[in-house]
Amino acid sequence: MVRNISILGSTGSIGTQTLDVVDSMENVKVWGLSTNTSIDLLERQIRQYRPKIAAVMDDQCAKKLKQKVNDTDTKVVAGMEGLIAAATLPQVEMVVTSVVGIVGLVPTLEAIKARKHIALANKETLVTAGNIIMQQARNHNVSIIPVDSEHSAIFQCLQGDDQDAVRSVILTASGGPFLHKRPEELKDVTPQQALKHPNWDMGHKISIDSATMMNKGLEIIEAKWLFNMDIDQIQVVVHPQSIIHSMVEYIDHSIIAQLGLPDMRIPIQYALTYPNRIASNHERLDLCKINELTFIRPDFETFTCLALAYEAIKEDGTMPAVLNAANEIAVDLFLKGKIGFTEIAMLIEQTMRKHNNIKDPSLKDILESDVWAREYVKDSLEFGVGSLEL
Ligand code: MG
Repeated sequence: MVRNISILGSTGSIGTQTLDVVDSMENVKVWGLSTNTSIDLLERQIRQYRPKIAAVMDDQCAKKLKQKVNDTDTKVVAGMEGLIAAATLPQVEMVVTSVVGIVGLVPTLEAIKARKHIALANKETLVTAGNIIMQQARNHNVSIIPVDSEHSAIFQCLQGDDQDAVRSVILTASGGPFLHKRPEELKDVTPQQALKHPNWDMGHKISIDSATMMNKGLEIIEAKWLFNMDIDQIQVVVHPQSIIHSMVEYIDHSIIAQLGLPDMRIPIQYALTYPNRIASNHERLDLCKINELTFIRPDFETFTCLALAYEAIKEDGTMPAVLNAANEIAVDLFLKGKIGFTEIAMLIEQTMRKHNNIKDPSLKDILESDVWAREYVKDSLEFGVGSLEL
């Protein structure tokens, strides 16, 4: 069980829930915390947890925070340098990576090189650079423990069994707020409607990704790398109750599932206590209250983002990084009211079509493709969505 951790992205949804879990455990020391811009909350966290380093991505916010906490022993460090410092502190055994976006990639890589175990809640790290990350983790003998509920479920279902006996992994998807909708019904949905997830309370980016089902697409790519699967070994089923968090099918046709209430504190705690389990004081799952569990095949025609994610990982190379970057920008544009909901997938598809895929990419290739895709999406918006040939 780990005792010394850093949390990258401590003011977000997963970060604050990680601190809840830390509060419920004995003897866990938090050495590093970080935020993008939420310095008021980070100040409160600094006063409560007394970390050695607090990293703030935004330079101006870092300056402000420095003044606010100059009566404490916590050192405030700005930008990527700060994230890396928090991720590589000598005392730290495990880094919880709960930042949103590709910004998590480099600090995660540096943490692995500094031989820190990773509790991985940042999807983009494996989506964009899964091959490099898993290779480095093997080289440095560190564990990558998934925090995402689906991957934690699969990880739990794999304990004690032989990887060679796995036939497939089955990722469950809630279907999001627009389950059963047809493409024409989705044209005019607002960010407010898209943000209303039926089961999970999450950050804005991931809520929109759930509404487009890109979230499941990114999870397919993550699962491929985490569990060393061929892409055709990864299935998705829509399971609207979000009680079964995912499953593993074995060659004898047994399927093992992990069930629980939709509460991220369960997978977070498991990542921190793995391979042990400790008692939780949160609500227990009452199966009779749930009454029924249902399963539906995903609708690839309405939720084209899911199909695009399968396509990106089949092509591999820099294509998943391009998918991810185009999605990040498109989601941001949708949240700002600049594009419609269905234009998110259109923009991603256009960007993928224009990308010259690089096979076996270096980290530099991945980061450059990421920048290229962001610029491309912004440019195509300037000229009008749909004006470019598909
Ligand atoms: Mg998930």
